[in-house]
Amino acid sequence: MVIIGAGPAGLFAAHELASNSNLSVNVIDWGKEIEKRHCPAADEGKCIGCVPCHIMCGLGGAGGMSSGILNLRHDIGGDLAKLTNSVAAAENLVKEVDDIFVKHGAPKQIDGADSTEVNELGRKAAAAGIKYIPIPQRHIGSEYLPDVINSFRSELEKKGVKFIFSSKVDRIGGGEVVVKGQSIKAKYILAAPGRIGADWLAEQAEVLGIKLTHGAIDIGVRVEIPAVVYEPVVNVNWDPKFHIRTKTFDDFVRTFCTNPYGFVMEERYDEHVGVNGQSLRDKKSQNTNFAFLVRVELTQPVTDTTSYGRSIAYLATTIGGDRPLLQRLGDLRAGRRSTWERIERGHVVPTLRSVTPGDISMALPGRIVTGILEGLEMLDRVAPGVASDSTLLYSPEVKLYAMKIQVDDNMETSVPNLFVAGDGAGLSRGIVTAAATGLLAARGIINKSKG
Ligand SMILES: Cc1cc2nc3c(=O)[nH]c(=O)nc-3n(C[C@H](O)[C@H](O)[C@H](O)COP(=O)(O)OP(=O)(O)OC[C@H]3O[C@@H](n4cnc5c(N)ncnc54)[C@H](O)[C@@H]3O)c2cc1C
Repeated sequence: MVIIGAGPAGLFAAHELASNSNLSVNVIDWGKEIEKRHCPAADEGKCIGCVPCHIMCGLGGAGGMSSGILNLRHDIGGDLAKLTNSVAAAENLVKEVDDIFVKHGAPKQIDGADSTEVNELGRKAAAAGIKYIPIPQRHIGSEYLPDVINSFRSELEKKGVKFIFSSKVDRIGGGEVVVKGQSIKAKYILAAPGRIGADWLAEQAEVLGIKLTHGAIDIGVRVEIPAVVYEPVVNVNWDPKFHIRTKTFDDFVRTFCTNPYGFVMEERYDEHVGVNGQSLRDKKSQNTNFAFLVRVELTQPVTDTTSYGRSIAYLATTIGGDRPLLQRLGDLRAGRRSTWERIERGHVVPTLRSVTPGDISMALPGRIVTGILEGLEMLDRVAPGVASDSTLLYSPEVKLYAMKIQVDDNMETSVPNLFVAGDGAGLSRGIVTAAATGLLAARGIINKSKG
């Protein structure tokens, strides 16, 4: 059988298949082995848009060069209970994934599990009208993640899994996978191509007549503040999740992907730029960054959230001159653009310099800007200083989750023996949930192969 994608979904599926079936397992990935994945340009904040992108592609997938924060909750980064029809089964999946990471060297320490501090933060958030979601988290760190992934790879190879790197799958269907014009026969196919392969998978699904639906998307900014401001919060939880309802529009706003003492990074897609963040265990900045996102759902007659999100990302890219936009919160409030001079007058030194100081209100819809301003004011009551005039906002941070591919409980599509898993199929949005959907798909294949 063939697995497309060596990200968490593909690797955990391979582990399950190699451990509990006699199927021969081949994992094909567009990118390279982990030790050949380097992005010096991204390290300097000057992504030049390599294809395939080293950050998104290769052994370990998009998670391979990330901070490796494992969110150990079944309802974060997707909804596993919905996929398994049981909270207990979803919790078990999270534990299985976590155990494998720990076996391969993830640190023993879990953050966000101290109940007195967690309760106190929850109380403070509630007093500010914010819901705090306590999440036990394991932080592997970008420098240590390659060792964890290589250890996992070596276990898989010992179990007989074969890896084929630097090979993009062009086409799937009819029991075959076509790579560089060559057909590889496969009784079972599991497509787990991640976000970078989401459009490709959607195209394949359309050709094969598989149903797709649009989900909600998240649009906003990456906030960068002095690390000391957020210290009382990240000391409780490395990546704290706050859920906020805004006053004016009653929109859902949330914090996501916090990087204490971290760095803002550029993400480059085919036709637009984006921003993200990372934190390293051994190299620290003076700042903390996190995504601050407003949820957008579209209902009849227009449901295409992907096009809506993309058009906002294009607009931000245009106004930023092909670079992310950077604005001080004080300038946004005052209705004026930022300039380097104004930014340098503030107290926060940006960790990403390949940006254009400008005005994010010229790129993001008014409703989203209102959500960001109101949400930050509320969050300031939990972590005073978050909404200071010096706070930096990078845009666009658009989370274009993949279109959701319709699957049954075994992650099998309407095309017999074609299974999907992970972010590329719109089933997950994080390392642990992606890995868990890989396990579900593998179990679906094993059940089917046993007849
Ligand atoms: C910078 C960054 C930081 C992140 N930090 C975190 C974090 O700390 N914690 C967290 O939970 N999540 C984090 N995420 C998200 C997380 O990495 C993803 O949710 C997760 O990796 C998804 O797993 P996946 O297996 O579905 O897909 P991916 O990990 O994206 O893997 C998909 C693989 O498929 C390959 N592929 C795609 N198309 C093809 C094709 N046609 N042929 C062959 N191969 C193909 C790609 O090369 C890629 O290696 C981060 C993401 C990024 C980009």
